[in-house]
Amino acid sequence: MVDPAERFLALWGEIADLGHAMGLLAWDQETHMPRSGGAARARLQATLAGVRHARLVAPELFEAVEQSGARAEPGSPLAAQVREARRVLGRVRCTPERLARAQAEAAAVGHEAWGAARAARDFALFRPALERLVALAREEAGLLTAPGAPLAGATLYDACLDAHEPGARAGDVGVLLGDLARELVPLVRAASASGRVPDPAPARGDYASERQLAFAREIAARFGFDFARGRIDAAPHPFCSGFGRDDVRLTWRFDAHDFRPALFGILHEAGHGLYEQNLPEEWQRTPIGEAVSLGVHESQSRLWENLVGRSRAFWTWALPRLQASFPAARRTTLDTLLPLLHTAQPSPIRVEADQGTYDLHVCVRFELERALFDGQLEVADLPAAWNEAYGRTLGLAPRDAAEGVLQDIHWSMGAFGYFPTYTLGNLIAAQLFAAAQRELGELDTAFARGEFQPLFEWLRARVHRHGSFHTAAELVRHATGRPLSSADYLAQRRADVAEYYDAR
Ligand code: ZN
Repeated sequence: MVDPAERFLALWGEIADLGHAMGLLAWDQETHMPRSGGAARARLQATLAGVRHARLVAPELFEAVEQSGARAEPGSPLAAQVREARRVLGRVRCTPERLARAQAEAAAVGHEAWGAARAARDFALFRPALERLVALAREEAGLLTAPGAPLAGATLYDACLDAHEPGARAGDVGVLLGDLARELVPLVRAASASGRVPDPAPARGDYASERQLAFAREIAARFGFDFARGRIDAAPHPFCSGFGRDDVRLTWRFDAHDFRPALFGILHEAGHGLYEQNLPEEWQRTPIGEAVSLGVHESQSRLWENLVGRSRAFWTWALPRLQASFPAARRTTLDTLLPLLHTAQPSPIRVEADQGTYDLHVCVRFELERALFDGQLEVADLPAAWNEAYGRTLGLAPRDAAEGVLQDIHWSMGAFGYFPTYTLGNLIAAQLFAAAQRELGELDTAFARGEFQPLFEWLRARVHRHGSFHTAAELVRHATGRPLSSADYLAQRRADVAEYYDAR
């Protein structure tokens, strides 16, 4: 008889391969596929999704997982493999095929309707599709939280969060984001009241695209991204996809008149890529060989983009290099550039928001999503609730629905509970960075010499190489010595506003 653990992991390896094949097709769709390929690609993806789903619900896999669970030593890698597999299978087995198909169809309809509504700047065109998506998501969450189900006793919105950030609960996330909003709102007001508005000139000028790519590539490689096991291609939106640790793809886009979008986009995606390239080799194609959560993934991108890539020490090393590559940067100085990289200016669009205000955009979405799933808000009332929340937190009123409630793609695909992972990423990044500095000593001297190896090695040892062996909450506690809080992140926000706005 075949050992059940061997059977379980062999079956899982094929499921992981199918997932990677789908990811590769999605990457190709964004980078190289001719526009005419869309319909055929959708069929191909649907076929693979069906095959993968059938593998996941096969009784053979369920039995192998349960038999492995009965023999696994507590605390062993096999016990973690079983825990992760049960989590994934619990969700899949709880969702009837009828519901999964209805959700896929509603997402396709929703995506179309959202695009049309956004172009027309009219929420009413999206409303029926969104109502359907919310109803289906509530139905799924109801099944997952029913007695005896994997998330029995949790709230409907907990089930949404758990899909993206396993183990996260709305109560805990609400405390973290509530702490954040309470302090960020007055900080942003103080920054505005200072009357300082940084001049964008130090980042603007003629920046040839191929040189922008070369410049950012050099830095990403210096951070530790291995281009022999990865590549970078142009795409409409920057993202990172990993198909195992030896094939990690980044994408980028640029503005020929401003070096910031390409540079910070690439440093962000390279942070994701470093995590993917350094996941545990021995657990590839297994449940715990994957990144543990979206929040932890986002912590890696934001740490390199913001905590390293916007620091004075980093720019002490990088600015002379920027100036050597681009005549436009020759008159830029550290003192004119740094305030521009640490602004806290309210703006209506999340993806264009600066670091000082970004999390308030997330707080608004969390509050609205939670109310939608707690039954305190109807889809029809979303635009008004959105505008009210933006006035209260960011002090601004969107001009229309395209600049307001219709700006993000997430809800159109039925992704509820996703937004909080961005801010969890910021909090985790800050707490990891503070812990690294406590252990390694100050890192600025190394950064100012262009040396990032000590930080990279620390992250590899404390985060990357664990895959999903620990839960996200355990990983943060082991790496930093304390449970996740907003303290380290808030300290950074306060320090930035004090330094660059001379306000507090
Ligand atoms: Zn990211």
